[in-house]
Amino acid sequence: MLNLVLFGPPGAGKGTQAIFLKEEYGLIHLSTGDLLRSRIAEGTALGIEAKQYMDKGELAPDNIVIGMIRNTLKKYPDAQGFIFDGFPRTVPQAQALDEMLNKNNVPILGMLSLEVEKEELIKRLLNRAQISGRVDDQNQAVIKNRINVYNEKTFPLIEYYKSQNKFYAINGMGTVEDISRRLKEVVDQF
Ligand code: AMP
Repeated sequence: MLNLVLFGPPGAGKGTQAIFLKEEYGLIHLSTGDLLRSRIAEGTALGIEAKQYMDKGELAPDNIVIGMIRNTLKKYPDAQGFIFDGFPRTVPQAQALDEMLNKNNVPILGMLSLEVEKEELIKRLLNRAQISGRVDDQNQAVIKNRINVYNEKTFPLIEYYKSQNKFYAINGMGTVEDISRRLKEVVDQF
């Protein structure tokens, strides 16, 4: 099973490249951000709780996100693999994911880390703000907080996957096609 973590700071292009990987390898794309936004749109209690964190650029609590992933994985017993996009974002989330996947002997094969210069990230986020309609893309202070939260809570995951020999740095600068090609070079080795 081709289970991949697509990693990178806000604005790195994870969503765009997840669509490429999904089509190229026939995978299920699991974005916790998208899952949470659909819970909000449905008006569920989970969505209402998560929204309070998301609007401020904070992370939703681990137990909410881990439970959501656990339930979603169960919906795809015949999947050829998953692309985890925006998950895990904390070490406890990564540990929970390993536990879920290792139980079924379908571990993460690689963490693909999109590396993008800071100025380019901000440019992409500001561009996306014009079209996404996302509350958390509209406000500079919220964007800054998302980047701080990434540095503090999510960046340490690089070490977590390095220690398992699963870390792959991908140059995330250039055209969408350039970046897709670089990802494919790595994933084809798995
Ligand atoms: P994203 O669409 O990945 O940028 O996520 C948007 C927002 O959803 C984040 O800023 C968090 O508030 C929340 N979120 C998404 N994924 C996670 C996660 N794995 N853990 C905690 N919060 C998350």
